[in-house]
Amino acid sequence: MSFIEIDSNSKIKVPENPTIGMIEGDGIGPDISKTAVRVLNSAIELAYGGKSYIEWQKVVAGDEAFEKTGKHLPQESLDLLKKCVISIKGPLTTPIGEGFRSLNVTMRQYFDLYANVRPVKFFPGVPSPVKNPEKMNMIIFRENTEDLYSGIEWRYNSDEAKRLRWYLSENLGVKIPEDAGIGIKPISKFKSKRLVRKAIEYAIQEHRKSVTLVHKGNIMKYTEGAFKEWGYEVAREEFKDYTVTEEEFNSSPGTSSWKVVIKDRITDNMFQQVLTRTQDYDVIATTNLNGDYLSDAVAAQVGGLGIAPGGNIGDVYAIFEAVHGTAPKYAGLDLANPTSLILSGSMMLRHIGWTLASEVIENAVGDCYKEQKVTQDLARVLNVKALKCSEFGEEIIKRMKKPSES
Ligand code: NAP
Repeated sequence: MSFIEIDSNSKIKVPENPTIGMIEGDGIGPDISKTAVRVLNSAIELAYGGKSYIEWQKVVAGDEAFEKTGKHLPQESLDLLKKCVISIKGPLTTPIGEGFRSLNVTMRQYFDLYANVRPVKFFPGVPSPVKNPEKMNMIIFRENTEDLYSGIEWRYNSDEAKRLRWYLSENLGVKIPEDAGIGIKPISKFKSKRLVRKAIEYAIQEHRKSVTLVHKGNIMKYTEGAFKEWGYEVAREEFKDYTVTEEEFNSSPGTSSWKVVIKDRITDNMFQQVLTRTQDYDVIATTNLNGDYLSDAVAAQVGGLGIAPGGNIGDVYAIFEAVHGTAPKYAGLDLANPTSLILSGSMMLRHIGWTLASEVIENAVGDCYKEQKVTQDLARVLNVKALKCSEFGEEIIKRMKKPSES
């Protein structure tokens, strides 16, 4: 087995046949994972003629792990994910009950996967609720490790909430009602800056037009507002030669057209802008809560979560994932739409530098949608015959073209 190595600059070194971790997931996870692996293997074979291939390393998590070990995410699985460096996962059931943390959150924190990255682009043929879905081509970088999602909160009648209310009242003159639960929203300079840095690096590397900092800084000045300020600071201090602010750009139009334009928008405005001026937005960098809402909303504009890919990426480790849940009613029926996991796999191939294979997949998926070869979730809207999950995978493979032919 050839594991991906990490060099002294924390960059990954990918061998020709890397071992990649695969968590199949719960519910529809095994169905979509089987199809995704077949599609990915076929694209890699076509793109590199058998010279490169992936050795898939199964990693157990979720229900399967619980049955085998009594734990949903045993230490051995975390160790294996660490060894693989790069992995992909199907959806996992969030265990219900006090004391259980979301497995996804646990993995993000364990591997410091601080950027949740979600590309959102339209495939012609996919039913959309908007008039011009083709205008959408965004990639959202959502901070993944802090904000209100840090889990620092207390029930209204807990001892901790009482003590905090007392402290705030006595020391800071802040009165909080007795019947209020309390949550804390930490937004730090270090974590904001590294997230924005990743978004700007991506924008420069991929020749994107702009990076928009989305924040609610007009109300939450020292958290959301600070995120915006730190974002501009990163651009100014670290990417001066490659970026220009929107203000500078507008005051001298044309002169810096090759530079990435850094702009900011207040969250509520952004929700209408993505509908009314879709084409004006490109790379988005935002805080955790904003990003959670915004990424689902923009995914809905181009056909919903069933087809949206995602990746959780840190400085070294990365786990790519289907963004939808386990859809338990379709478990084991070979009916689910595997596109989200397939496109997440394609993102993963780009991440390890296997761009050709990724293009093969994206073109073939696009051709399937153009020809309305779809699974039941979309077939029922388009009123066409539904393909099974595995059949959809085969249709993708049939449409794959060697990169030179496409
Ligand atoms: P869900 O599993 O995403 O399913 C909700 C509905 O979305 C399904 O009933 C189905 O709609 C549709 N759907 C989602 N994915 C689909 C696919 N690939 N193909 C076809 N249809 C799909 O959301 P949920 O019911 O709220 O969550 C179920 C479990 O998943 C929970 O335990 C939750 O915690 C977990 N979850 C995990 C992740 C993750 O691991 N990343 C993310 C979200 C939720 P129709 O019924 O209309 O056909």
